[in-house]
Amino acid sequence: MKHYDVIIIGSGAGGGTLAYRLAASGTRVLLLERGGYVPREKANWDSRAVNVEARYHTREVWRDRDGRPLHPHTSYNVGGNTKFYGAALFRMRERDFEALPHYDGLSPAWPIGYADLEPYYAEAERLYQVHGERGVDPTEPWSSTPYPFPAISHEPRIQQLHDDLARAGLRPFHVPLGVRLDERQPHVSACIRCNTCDGYACLVQAKSDAQVTCVDPALRHPNVTLMTHAQVLRLETSATGREVTGVVVRHHGADEVLRADVVVVSCGAINSAALLLRSASDRHPRGLANRSGVVGRHYMGHVNSVVLAISTTPNPTVFQKTLALNDFYFGDPDFPYPMGHISFVGKLDAVALGAGAPPFVPGLTLDIIARHSLDFWLTSEDLPDPDNRVTLDRDGNIVLDYTPNNVEPHGRLVKRLEYLLEHIGAKHIVRRNLFVGQRIPLAGVAHQNGTVRFGHDPATSALDVNCRAHDVDNLYVVDGSFFPSSAAVNPALTIVANALRVGDHLLERLGAGTREVADAAR
Ligand SMILES: Cc1cc2nc3c(=O)[nH]c(=O)nc-3n(C[C@H](O)[C@H](O)[C@H](O)COP(=O)(O)OP(=O)(O)OC[C@H]3O[C@@H](n4cnc5c(N)ncnc54)[C@H](O)[C@@H]3O)c2cc1C
Ligand code: SF4
Repeated sequence: MKHYDVIIIGSGAGGGTLAYRLAASGTRVLLLERGGYVPREKANWDSRAVNVEARYHTREVWRDRDGRPLHPHTSYNVGGNTKFYGAALFRMRERDFEALPHYDGLSPAWPIGYADLEPYYAEAERLYQVHGERGVDPTEPWSSTPYPFPAISHEPRIQQLHDDLARAGLRPFHVPLGVRLDERQPHVSACIRCNTCDGYACLVQAKSDAQVTCVDPALRHPNVTLMTHAQVLRLETSATGREVTGVVVRHHGADEVLRADVVVVSCGAINSAALLLRSASDRHPRGLANRSGVVGRHYMGHVNSVVLAISTTPNPTVFQKTLALNDFYFGDPDFPYPMGHISFVGKLDAVALGAGAPPFVPGLTLDIIARHSLDFWLTSEDLPDPDNRVTLDRDGNIVLDYTPNNVEPHGRLVKRLEYLLEHIGAKHIVRRNLFVGQRIPLAGVAHQNGTVRFGHDPATSALDVNCRAHDVDNLYVVDGSFFPSSAAVNPALTIVANALRVGDHLLERLGAGTREVADAAR
């Protein structure tokens, strides 16, 4: 049987990026992905197929804490959830890495500081071709490099909103975006600036997702292999329990055991925790790498809302997700706690609104609402509660138990936005809460993180500072699981930057720089 240097399980933001990082070194990498490629088809950009039929979501059924079925809004495919993400690629703020008092308690410090991750953020922005502008986001952390590409322009309605907000004393700014739009040379631009980006796969491969950006280039190296439709069922360890010795994978229906010097789990925060829990053994009775008992705990996913501001002014914007507001991120004079981040979702159409079916304004059709609404996305930090957790039922299926916290600052953030909009002209505001509302309470797991946290102390964390399991010498986790706190910006760039950082550690561990020399001498 072929032995690999590194097996990476999951090809999303974490796993795909790590494969890319290791590829050029000659390291023999096997990337295991339970899904296949997202098919390139016209349905990629069809609102009904995506929003009503959930064509690209997994059909897997999870359970909530009361045993009720949960149909998670998540996708299993090459590139992971980045195939469908909005590509808003933010750095966390410096203070997000520190212990930070919040309304509901303390957001814990990370074991690394912003300065440790900064060079990797810079590299991640280059790799994922982020388009942005420095110096306009009032909470932006320092950076060693400018953005590699200019910011994506606002369309007229969003520019008008920008100007109105600026006149009201706010500091709106351009969202840093991983879309490959060349506005100066539209005739050669990969991105065509369409209205089906956030939540959709990019039919023309112009979004910086993990497949296009990392997996495809990594596969050009002969030492990197991708196995699709390969679902890892559990990990086996040696008799001491200190090393992973086997990766049990179901590949097109047949089970086999694969082996590598190093095994990296990157299945997304919920599935990574589930995999470690399913890998319980005599040596690891509570789940692999779970001596601390934290695996599966501290699940976070942000407090998120969509706020529709329906005004008399039409909103014909095609690509809406260009503007953001961080003026309330760390609080304001009337509320001295962090409130969070205001931005946009992709422009909602009548079909997408119908799929959410919120109780809308009587007398207004969904079509009229869609043509007039500004569709905001608000994110506040949720705090790591050990009782918010991923567990398994008797059959090994995922159970997600989550009680939202830190909701007061989120409510304040919504009120700030509503107040602002009332005073700059947008009337008739309707809120649709995606997480705690009646429609999609728990299933919206887009920002999942925190379930296999890293830290210095093996008693309170599962991973060390290099994201290596405290209890298992050759086991790493590089998806969103490692977050000790969730901050209030979108998570993907931090996952990517960290995967690059862990990649450097692995290259050093494997002596990969010297491998080609050794191979040549054989
Ligand atoms: C609609 C949507 C919009 C989003 N917008 C943004 C945004 O604008 N900005 C942002 O920063 N973030 C955004 N996100 C979140 C972002 O996509 C995630 O944070 C990111 O993809 C997480 O990376 P990951 O590596 O942790 O997991 P994923 O990218 O989910 O990758 C996990 C991979 O592991 C595979 N896998 C799972 N279990 C197994 C197993 N047992 N065996 C083998 N393979 C397995 C999965 O199939 C998947 O490919 C969005 C998400 C969604 C759904
Ligand atoms: S063409 Fe551009 S805007 Fe449309 S999905 Fe692709 S990256 Fe997004």
